[in-house]
Amino acid sequence: MSEADDCLFCKIIAGQIPSSKVYEDDTTYAFNDINPKAKVHVLIVPKRHYANVAELAAADPAELAHIVDIAQRIADERFHGAFRLVFNTGLDAGQTVFHVHAHVLTGEVLDE
Ligand code: ADP
Repeated sequence: MSEADDCLFCKIIAGQIPSSKVYEDDTTYAFNDINPKAKVHVLIVPKRHYANVAELAAADPAELAHIVDIAQRIADERFHGAFRLVFNTGLDAGQTVFHVHAHVLTGEVLDE
């Protein structure tokens, strides 16, 4: 069994667990966070399994740039282009799902 076989976000991408889809293309999937921390809180994930953003950046920097571009487009549509992009990396930084995901927070003025 590979790491990805027991991964929550791999199961969401495969449609085995329901999600509220925001965007999808061949390499990337985006869905609403189940516990939103802002008016708009979207998670953007590569369909390929990487544990964290450092692994993704090393293996596929173009996909990381693509994720940033999707975040910008969501913010353009939902909140005149302003957004916060967060990658929690490692247990002690609050990462709980070990499939890299960008938290896109937008839709309202954000506290510092
Ligand atoms: P944290 O839980 O501390 O934010 P992460 O950065 O790993 O840690 O983020 C995981 C995110 O996944 C959380 O914001 C959580 O609300 C979200 N989440 C967990 N399960 C689901 C689900 N089934 N559908 C949508 N979002 C989910």
